[in-house]
Amino acid sequence: MKVTTIGTGYVGLVTGACLAEMGNHVVCLDVNAEKIRILNEGGIPIHEPGLDAVVKRNVEAGRLQFTTDVDAAVNHGTILFIAVGTPPGEDGSADLQYVLAAARSIGQRMTDYKVVVDKSTVPVGTADKVRAAIAEELARRDAKVGFAVVSNPEFLKEGAAIEDFMKPDRIVVGSDDEQATLMMRALYAPFTRSHDRLFVMDVRSAEFTKYAANAMLATRISFMNELALLAEKVGADIELVRRGIGSDPRIGYQFLYAGAGYGGSCFPKDVKALVRTGREHDQELKVLNAVEEANDRQKLVLVDKIVARFGEDLAGKRFALWGLAFKPNTDDMREAPSLVIIEELVKRGAAIAAYDPVAMSEASKMLAQVQGVSFCERAEHALADSDALVIVTEWKEFRTPDFDRIKSELKQPVVFDGRNLYEPALMSTLGIEHHAIGRGTRK
Ligand code: NAD
Repeated sequence: MKVTTIGTGYVGLVTGACLAEMGNHVVCLDVNAEKIRILNEGGIPIHEPGLDAVVKRNVEAGRLQFTTDVDAAVNHGTILFIAVGTPPGEDGSADLQYVLAAARSIGQRMTDYKVVVDKSTVPVGTADKVRAAIAEELARRDAKVGFAVVSNPEFLKEGAAIEDFMKPDRIVVGSDDEQATLMMRALYAPFTRSHDRLFVMDVRSAEFTKYAANAMLATRISFMNELALLAEKVGADIELVRRGIGSDPRIGYQFLYAGAGYGGSCFPKDVKALVRTGREHDQELKVLNAVEEANDRQKLVLVDKIVARFGEDLAGKRFALWGLAFKPNTDDMREAPSLVIIEELVKRGAAIAAYDPVAMSEASKMLAQVQGVSFCERAEHALADSDALVIVTEWKEFRTPDFDRIKSELKQPVVFDGRNLYEPALMSTLGIEHHAIGRGTRK
């Protein structure tokens, strides 16, 4: 099939590359000329494991192209995915300006039947707005061309996006158009060969499903983070509690970790947008309000622990900080807890020696205005002359570090373990002061 993705970011690029991998001919469009230049020169503008090989293979096979030419892109695909950003607006609602601009650009140019697919995460009712925007543009130039708008929210996880797209848990298609549904089924058939995982539903339910999924996941995180705060006060270990409850299949082990708060380009904005949708419909979402509030507080938990240990005035103190990305295996820094933590520490006079395997370039752009942050080429380089080590992201390479080196290079052996990577008993044996989340402090 001929497919176009409008938006070539984490979702658009992965979608385009994986659809090309199954034999489709895909054009990926973006307004960001720099992104398209990098892709056309054989580079990948984001860090996503395995993506480069899929892109390279399909570009070489002539099935995957990148362009800034809107005309060519719109006319190429019969199926047009809108995969542009939907950042939070000032009131927390999803900002639809990029989605509607994409819809208008389709309406201004299409000359034959199109299935327009909302892949971006968009509030209930957006498909109607996309349909109206396209229809308005068609009417403006008096063009009589058929089209359908369907919702197909994306559930991939950054860091495992290729795997998620190629072997999805489910594919949700919201459609009230028979022909469009058949085309979506055909497009996704190669991804659901072992058993059918494509759920066709009405458009509004599909749009809602994406928010419901992210809201549920965010809720699990905030719930565990809140229990971790209490665990510390009552002398329980949240890691043991996690194992104790995760063994119940109704609860399950996944997404049950206490930590330094959730971040990223999805959970914070999607929770906000759903809360906002609730307000618009006079339906206050009390649980989700609390989820957000608990997360804002959790992003400061490591700072509170550092202040409790070193005092409110951190002038002259330096902290080694491992992990900047909002989670491992990505360079995505959007809403990363590390940004809040660094800002708070710097505000109190501290200097930061930061390290992340892939996110330092993104982080340095976002922290350009923040004084006192230096970036280290290797994790160990951050340790020398630092007063403590602060772990914010659970990259694999931090799981079994050289503890002797940590101990000898830090001014004093103090570790703030924001992702509960290390066993308190081991830290105690090694003589490292260990501040974890919901596990008490071992000196
Ligand atoms: P992104 O910021 O990485 O990419 C969006 C791209 O769209 C950018 O490159 C931007 O330049 C481009 N763009 C904006 N307007 C355009 C236009 N009119 N024409 C062409 N290109 C345009 O965003 P993302 O992370 O890929 O997210 C896209 C959507 O998918 C969002 O709604 C997000 O919530 C949703 N989503 C994201 C993830 C994720 O893990 N990143 C997962 C599921 C769903």
